[in-house]
Amino acid sequence: MKIRCPKCAWEPDGGEHWQCHCGHIWNTFETIGRCPACHHQHEYTQCVPHAGGCDKHSPHLDWYEGLDKIVEELIEEVFTTEEVLQQP
Ligand SMILES: [Zn+2]
Ligand SMILES: [Zn+2]
Repeated sequence: MKIRCPKCAWEPDGGEHWQCHCGHIWNTFETIGRCPACHHQHEYTQCVPHAGGCDKHSPHLDWYEGLDKIVEELIEEVFTTEEVLQQP
């Protein structure tokens, strides 16, 4: 799955660019936004200007390109299964 900033399309380079309010610095995409030190779940992720990105905050899940499609496919799968079950 591709990860990029929803605002400027900057792609995280694998570096530890994010700092939690507890002071811990880590790569937020390794833990899907959860701080490994205090286990706080960060719902928003800021882009990294000094690494070539913008400075905008976006919902963490918006960074994952194609996630909507995966959810759509899952919903479709559930509906398909229900249709099968409803048949006599
Ligand atoms: Zn923390
Ligand atoms: Zn950006």
